[in-house]
Amino acid sequence: MIMWSNGKFVKANQVSTLNWVMHYSGSAWEGIRSYEVANNGTVHPFALTDHVSRLFDSAKILRLQIPYTQDQIRQAIRDLQIKIGPVELYFRPIVYPMKDAEGKADDERVGVDIYAFELPNGFPKKGIKVQTSFKSRAYPHFEMQCKSSNNYGALEQLRRGAKNAKVHDFLLTDGHGNYTEATTANLFVVRRNKIWTPPNDGSILPGLTRAFTIEQTGAQEKKVTRPELITASEVFITGTYAEITPVVEIDGYKIGDGKPGPTTNKCREAYFHAVRNRLWLGTFGQSYYL
Ligand code: PMP
Repeated sequence: MIMWSNGKFVKANQVSTLNWVMHYSGSAWEGIRSYEVANNGTVHPFALTDHVSRLFDSAKILRLQIPYTQDQIRQAIRDLQIKIGPVELYFRPIVYPMKDAEGKADDERVGVDIYAFELPNGFPKKGIKVQTSFKSRAYPHFEMQCKSSNNYGALEQLRRGAKNAKVHDFLLTDGHGNYTEATTANLFVVRRNKIWTPPNDGSILPGLTRAFTIEQTGAQEKKVTRPELITASEVFITGTYAEITPVVEIDGYKIGDGKPGPTTNKCREAYFHAVRNRLWLGTFGQSYYL
């Protein structure tokens, strides 16, 4: 596998387990998909400007000074796409302290690596089963608006139990009993002809797929309780990995009639139409062609 590492294309490296992040966390990263544009065969990263901007915001919050400009990182992603060829990819840029755990505490070097691989959406189209967890992921002790390894501690522990629990994913709380997100996706609820999503009050990562979905549906921001989830007519999650995935069962309760509902289906169609026709260019409204 080829990757971009600190300004050069190299063979994917084996990260040292002595790297600082392995021990103390504190990396910033993004997940970006590229999609083939309908009828022309070219492949473009979706909402690239937004993703790179969020990467820089996350790094700033963590006090990591990225030694490149946003334009250079966007260009590196486009160049990596060209090097690999016109296939749909998932890009994973990661910003990290370069020191290792026995390194000098004053080593402030910051590294940027970009991995790219083919990553289909592994969730079944007919919908997923999820379990509510009483865990709050990290909020309010960590800043969820920062996309950092700091915020995924609960995820790994839960995911390891997913097979046992016979579910695909988990819903996490804001620490006050309101459900905020799945492990790596935002949450939407359709109930009594209203569509809403938990507020961007610091307890969620404000996802770009969420921004797209709000724009499409006019969804309102409102807290979500467990009884509201269970009695909803539709629930779905949004994210770069999840795209738009229906949730058809929560804690063994069937949601609606246990099948993807009309609002979810409409959103999914709108999403794929937009990404394959470059109809949504992110919140900056900017396009960067390869
Ligand atoms: N919340 C969390 C915690 C995530 O990791 C992700 C995935 N980036 C999302 C929400 C969805 O964000 P996006 O639509 O920008 O991928």
